[in-house]
Amino acid sequence: MQLTLENNKNTKSDKLPFSRTNPFQAKVLKNINLNGTSSSKETRHIELSLKGSGLSYVPGDALGVIPANDPELVAALIEEMKWDEEEVVTVGKQGETMPLKEALTTYLEITLLTKKILQQAAAFTENEELQKLVMIENASQLKEYCYGRDLLDMLRAFGPWKASAQDIVSLLRKMTARLYSIASSLTANPDEVHLTIGAVRYTAHGRDRKGVCSVLCAERVQEGDTLPVFVQANKHFFLPESQDKDIIMVGPGTGIAPFRSFIQERAVNKVTGRSWLFFGDQHAASDFLYQNELEKYQQDGVLTKLDTAFSRDSAQKVYVQHKMLENSKELFEWLENGAYFYVCGDKEHMAKDVNEALISVIEKEGALTRDAAEAYLKDMQQQGRYQRDVY
Ligand SMILES: Cc1cc2nc3c(=O)[nH]c(=O)nc-3n(C[C@H](O)[C@H](O)[C@H](O)COP(=O)(O)OP(=O)(O)OC[C@H]3O[C@@H](n4cnc5c(N)ncnc54)[C@H](O)[C@@H]3O)c2cc1C
Repeated sequence: MQLTLENNKNTKSDKLPFSRTNPFQAKVLKNINLNGTSSSKETRHIELSLKGSGLSYVPGDALGVIPANDPELVAALIEEMKWDEEEVVTVGKQGETMPLKEALTTYLEITLLTKKILQQAAAFTENEELQKLVMIENASQLKEYCYGRDLLDMLRAFGPWKASAQDIVSLLRKMTARLYSIASSLTANPDEVHLTIGAVRYTAHGRDRKGVCSVLCAERVQEGDTLPVFVQANKHFFLPESQDKDIIMVGPGTGIAPFRSFIQERAVNKVTGRSWLFFGDQHAASDFLYQNELEKYQQDGVLTKLDTAFSRDSAQKVYVQHKMLENSKELFEWLENGAYFYVCGDKEHMAKDVNEALISVIEKEGALTRDAAEAYLKDMQQQGRYQRDVY
């Protein structure tokens, strides 16, 4: 399948370096589901070729992917509004022109609804419900309306519309790139970049919803296709320069991604520093991402310690932070020995729980007050020894 993605032939400029505005069309070498058939999750392992791009990265960096919208959703929008898909519309600040279908597929965010979109859309309909919703005193209801809904919901709910395709297109934001923590080491995999992408699927307001980029990767990108990508350096997430430093990595779910890169890099460089990984997910049988690789690294001594927490395998839910607390004595010894501590993955819950657990470990094993434990952690942060890549 040839994806109809922006700039899909690397023709924009061969001279300019590839970047967010001039992405490289990376060929998909591999795209597999890491989860077992019984899993409620789908996590894709994707390998891309960077051959000929001149792009390079170091462990800790992210890859930006510029996605395209679901053709079924684009078709549903065109059908709903009885638009002509060939109609030429103007998009963006530079006033680029393209057929409507292309604009809705590759150029515009059609799954994101904002207060501003609804407020501006109110000028194109007399629908009383919408007029009421955009009144200043209803700001919180407006915000609530946007959550879990998209453009199609809005167009279906608040007609009849007195708007041209161009009027609606002008309300929409430009498609933004999605970032993914790089899951490979370039030293270990020359000319390649690997990603670990969790498919975002949920039901809201009676419709099944699909994350734009993650579901594109899960359902529509096949080996041999290309994806527009760029490298996004991350100055705040990196391996210690010194090869003899110990590292502790906490990366449940897709949070494992940068640590696969770290471990691969350290394996190639034959570093002397120890490494300890905490991984977690729902079930060991179906959700232990990269299990074989990790166990092999452990056997080979590249990974000194591997602790796992599978939350749905026991009556009492066990998470990575519980494994940290169980190992508090040894964990504190590693910290006292100068270890670097890394967290990657869920920002809302996991990263906060891990931060709390870390403070508890320092408090208990260092016989410190909570304030002193927090100061200890702050000091680690200032030394670059507590780094987070959370989203
Ligand atoms: C630095 C960085 C690194 C990252 N690394 C990775 C990685 O290694 N692997 C990975 O899988 N992801 C990673 N992400 C997240 C990734 O960038 C995307 O945000 C993710 O894949 C979703 O994008 P999408 O286009 O599929 O979904 P979108 O179309 O952008 O939709 C996602 C949005 O849907 C909404 N939503 C989700 N669930 C619900 C719900 N139940 N109800 C209502 N609304 C909901 C939320 O608003 C959410 O922001 C990273 C993010 C950052 C910033």
